[in-house]
Amino acid sequence: MRSVAIVGGNLAGGRAVETLRQAGFDGRITLIGQEPWRPYERPPLSKEVLWNPANAPDNFFLQTEDWYNENRIDLRLDTRAEAIDLAAGGVRLSGGELVVADQVLLATGGHARKLNLAGADCANVHYLRTRDDAERMAVDLQAGARIVIVGMGVIGAEVAASAIKLGCDVTAVEPLAVPMERALGQRFGHWLGEEHRKRGVKTHFNRGVTGFKFVDGRVSAVEIDDGTLIECDAVIVGVGIVPATSLALDAGLAVNNGIIVDRQCRTSNPAVFAAGDVAEQDGFFGGRFRQETYQNAADQAQAAALAILGQEVDYCKPMWYWSDQFDLNIQFSGQIPVQAEVVLRGDMGSNAFVAFFLSGGTIEGLLAVNRASDMGIGKRLVERRAKAGAAQLGDPDVPLRELLKRAN
Ligand code: ADP
Repeated sequence: MRSVAIVGGNLAGGRAVETLRQAGFDGRITLIGQEPWRPYERPPLSKEVLWNPANAPDNFFLQTEDWYNENRIDLRLDTRAEAIDLAAGGVRLSGGELVVADQVLLATGGHARKLNLAGADCANVHYLRTRDDAERMAVDLQAGARIVIVGMGVIGAEVAASAIKLGCDVTAVEPLAVPMERALGQRFGHWLGEEHRKRGVKTHFNRGVTGFKFVDGRVSAVEIDDGTLIECDAVIVGVGIVPATSLALDAGLAVNNGIIVDRQCRTSNPAVFAAGDVAEQDGFFGGRFRQETYQNAADQAQAAALAILGQEVDYCKPMWYWSDQFDLNIQFSGQIPVQAEVVLRGDMGSNAFVAFFLSGGTIEGLLAVNRASDMGIGKRLVERRAKAGAAQLGDPDVPLRELLKRAN
């Protein structure tokens, strides 16, 4: 019987096993996950799980436990894969057991990057990657608690909004000039920073953290590089992830910023595939990237599963992500080109607008704020590399559907 082992009990791993069975694979499937939980949704970790840790939101898990039984998925939770040993016939687990596998999918994701400072591991310094992380963090997000957020990327900005909702006193420190700079660029990052300020977040942008002060083994204050001391009850660190490439490196696979895969999600070993945050693949606009988005983890894992079954796969999609902060739904597709021409549809002041990022007349990126209904067509405009004039793009009376038709 043919057998496939998937390392990573997360969204990518979960979607891969579903795809294998849906596509009719009848062989043995083992899903190895380090966490004690079967695959679950991460987006609620910075929101619903913090607001109400006692009740997991509906549909928190990708599938019921019964689904894995009915589909004959051998779920190995709370288990680390120690080595890919295809010469020995499979994947070696932490207990020494060998899981038999002809092919392996690595969906190992990443670890939260730690701050390189004394005290960065204190009990009241939190990182957010797993459900357990979120539940520990929630204990410290009490009304009135003084919370310092270090790093205003996606995690920092979402947790800042949740902490405000919970009645915390929130101060954010970010070394760049604006929050979510990598995702939004300067102009829209600046807009987002102002929205956070208006809702009560105190901000120290262009500032690094230089050290912590301690009382009774807990961080009691954060010191920043202009000498300011920010007193706190807890610290939330969101400074990015480190891709979990050690299994791949030990197995001799080609690794750059992530595990290098082709458009079939195949690594330098033809029997080993990779998908999700850990995989580095051709970018839609050239170059090679790891995408750290929900949609990529789901879609790339699906592509990898089909490739494992020998189907024709050519995966190369523009990025799409969303983030919910306060009453703001922020969605972005594509990229912000260097020296982009930016066209606005709607008024930024109303917090309901679309921004198009063009390069040589081609739409390469699209930001939709509280305009989720525009995103379906918006993504297709980016995927089609649609060309459009600034006058039409900026005119709310020209439906996006019309622009897509003209682009065909
Ligand atoms: P995450 O998934 O953790 O939100 P992002 O890449 O979206 O990751 O954002 C990370 C943020 O952390 C960026 O805004 C970046 O400028 C900031 N950052 C990176 N290193 C540090 C650091 N040492 N101290 C504070 N902030 C940092």
